[in-house]
Amino acid sequence: MENGHCADDKPGAGVPDGDSRHADLSRRRFLSAAGLLIAGAMLPEARGARSGEIAGSGQKVVMAIIGGIRRAESFSPEGLRYIPHLVSDLGPNSLLYLHARNEGVTAHFNAISSILTGNWQRVDDWGNQAPTTPTLFEQYRRAQHASAGETWVVASNKALTSQIGASSASHYGPEFGANVVFPKQLMLQAIVNALRNGRSGNMADRDKVEAELETAMAGSNYEGLGWNVFDAADQLDPRVRSTIETAISSFVHGGGPTSGDELTFFMAREIMRKFAPNLLVTVFSDVEAAHFGSYAMHLAGIGTADRLVYELWQEIETNPEYRKKTTLLVLPEFGRDPDGSSTNGFFNHRANEESTRDTWAMALGAGVGQATIVERPIRQVDLCPTLAALLGCRALESQGASLRELRG
Ligand SMILES: [Zn+2]
Repeated sequence: MENGHCADDKPGAGVPDGDSRHADLSRRRFLSAAGLLIAGAMLPEARGARSGEIAGSGQKVVMAIIGGIRRAESFSPEGLRYIPHLVSDLGPNSLLYLHARNEGVTAHFNAISSILTGNWQRVDDWGNQAPTTPTLFEQYRRAQHASAGETWVVASNKALTSQIGASSASHYGPEFGANVVFPKQLMLQAIVNALRNGRSGNMADRDKVEAELETAMAGSNYEGLGWNVFDAADQLDPRVRSTIETAISSFVHGGGPTSGDELTFFMAREIMRKFAPNLLVTVFSDVEAAHFGSYAMHLAGIGTADRLVYELWQEIETNPEYRKKTTLLVLPEFGRDPDGSSTNGFFNHRANEESTRDTWAMALGAGVGQATIVERPIRQVDLCPTLAALLGCRALESQGASLRELRG
């Protein structure tokens, strides 16, 4: 479905009136600002030397889904300064879809499950119901007979549950689903346990925090935390346990910032190093501090996501299991409400407005034929069938359409 708001992009519309001339000017200004995105993008290396046999064979996909970010704080002339890594470090080699639309429910679980299934999902907002059509994880695992270690979700968002890893569709479901881990919930649970047991006095001590985290992990309640890792019941798989321990140790002793997204990043990187899954989805949610009404914390969350996405790309570039055969997708779940709206502007993401629905998506790596900026609007549900093809799967029925710019 083409969107009416793009009508002014069409040629032959006659002499523009004042408004559209102004819109055109600001669009040009933005494109010239975005020009630095493609400066240097004309790589001498031709990427056409693909095997061209089985599409997607041997390809890996990493997705970084970020909570709600408005265009005003990202890909707009006034927003570029908040995303320096996306603009300057990653942009020049990227395929940037300037308009990737969320036309579904703009709440976290539904938005993420729509992205992951290629169909607009309208299930419970808090993850009490699985998506109704197969996720990319299930499509990939069933079609390629891929093992449980090949698909992972690592998320900071408290609105997600392990139901994000598999659908309720017949012939699919948890048997083909992803491992799902919520490192931040593990950390919070450890702190709650320490408080309950009167051991909170020492929580400022990093070693104590680590010990508490390990205690929480040693308990038999990962399912209570909403986890689902290798069908863990009472005992975590030892490889998973050591992966988590290493990630927590890096997080606690790293001396850097200690946000939920930071821990999610360490966990995702450790999973890449230990398991090298072919399909990994990370969900960064520090930007959701906006719900508490702090614009400064929201901007800090954007800065964190921008940096962690860049670090994720650096891991892809240096990890021999990923280098040269991985496509990285970066996209927000949606925008946020416009300033002056009845829902408190950036606090929320409920308004049926362009500010909430019109966002963007960036792709890097093996699936990107040519670095470019695509102005044609796409929909978030277009990504799943596109990535399924990259991973060598036949596309299932989807409300989305395959994106011609992205292929293996
Ligand atoms: Zn939110």
